[in-house]
Amino acid sequence: MSDRTIFERIIDGDIPANIVHETERAVAFLDANPLAPGHTLVVPREPHTRLRDAPPEVSESVFEVVRTIAPAVEEAVDADATTVGINDGTAAGQEVPHLHVHVVPRFEGDGGGS
Ligand code: 5GP
Repeated sequence: MSDRTIFERIIDGDIPANIVHETERAVAFLDANPLAPGHTLVVPREPHTRLRDAPPEVSESVFEVVRTIAPAVEEAVDADATTVGINDGTAAGQEVPHLHVHVVPRFEGDGGGS
C-alpha cells in the first residue's frame, strides 16, 4: 500500500536494509545516512508514529533490543560510548512517522562529552 512508511517497507522486506537484529516485535537496521559509523535504528514492527502511541509491550520490546544491541554496536565500531535518542514528533525532528530509536556510537573527542 502506498501509505506505508519507508520503515514498514524495510520491515516487510520490500526495501533493502542492513538488518543487524530482529525479534518478534522489533527490528534493528543501519541508518542510511549515519551520524557516525554503526548508527542503528530500532523500530517496532507495529507502525506506531510516536512513543505515546505504542502499547507498553511494544515500547518495552523496542528498548529491550536497544539494550541488547547498543554494546554490540559500540564494540563493532570500536566506539567509546553511545547516544540513544528518539525524535518524538515533527517539531523534535522526526522525519519518518514510524517510532524509531537512534543508537549512535560515540567516540572520545567527537563533541559528545565534556
Ligand atoms: P528521524 O529524523 O525521523 O528521527 O530519523 C529518520 C532516520 O531515518 C534518519 O536518520 C535517516 O537517515 C533514516 N532513514 C531515512 N530513510 C531511510 C531508508 O530508506 N533506510 C534507512 N536505513 N534509513 C533511512
